[in-house]
Amino acid sequence: MPELPEVETIVRGLAPQLRGRRIEAVWWSGQPLHLRRPVNLKGLRALAVGRDITAVRRVGKYAIFDLAPTTKDAAAVLVHLGMTGRLRVLPGREARVPHTHVVFRLAGGDELRFSDPRRFGWVEPVPALADNPTLSRLGPDPLAALDAVTLAARLRGVRAPVKAFLLDQRRVAGLGNIYVSEALFRAGIHPSTPAGRLTRRAPTLLDGIRAALEGGIARRGTTLRDYVGADGLPGENASALLVYGREGQPCPRCGATIKRRVDAGRATFYCGHCQRR
Ligand SMILES: [Zn+2]
Repeated sequence: MPELPEVETIVRGLAPQLRGRRIEAVWWSGQPLHLRRPVNLKGLRALAVGRDITAVRRVGKYAIFDLAPTTKDAAAVLVHLGMTGRLRVLPGREARVPHTHVVFRLAGGDELRFSDPRRFGWVEPVPALADNPTLSRLGPDPLAALDAVTLAARLRGVRAPVKAFLLDQRRVAGLGNIYVSEALFRAGIHPSTPAGRLTRRAPTLLDGIRAALEGGIARRGTTLRDYVGADGLPGENASALLVYGREGQPCPRCGATIKRRVDAGRATFYCGHCQRR
């Protein structure tokens, strides 16, 4: 569920709490996470214990904890929040919430804790960032590495609907159901439009994507159920959503009724009047 704006909000909250702090120990609950895979505890310990966190940043929907001192290969811990993952820095003496699965104990006694009731999330040691298969498969980040020319080139020849194109992390990284609906509404593009037909509208589409994401970040993320920031507080973007979750309500632009359609089990909300194929 957390998408780019939620991960960005968490990363911005964590960075000042973690920058320059040394990892002293790593703990794992023993429960498997994403795809029922066990966490590589041995690898995490070997990589992270005794090293400082130099930066906390985001690529797509991933949080990256950079480690120092760096060898020639930049090392990091990679975290994906899945559906219900949370990252918090809390005093070690404070009780851990249920479903806490990975804990990094920091010098000084605080802990960076990853909790995830549904266990779709992922925590992974990355000895060399440049060689990481997960990161190298990701498409460009729409706030950091995507321009209209690149987006047009990526759209060209793609027969899949633009909605599926935007959800595919290999094409563009960071968007999920909520911000795809919001971006396509802002751009005035119908979600079932074949992606390859939008090359000339790439600048408009990119503007829509950026406006939706930046609005989400400005309001510290969208909380529908589970998401909280690094401070434990919900985001404020849910009430600012233009179409997502507003089926049957009037379009904020034209007043027509907002519709909902489901493709491949994923809902899209849109205005059939404002959004053209
Ligand atoms: Zn409308």
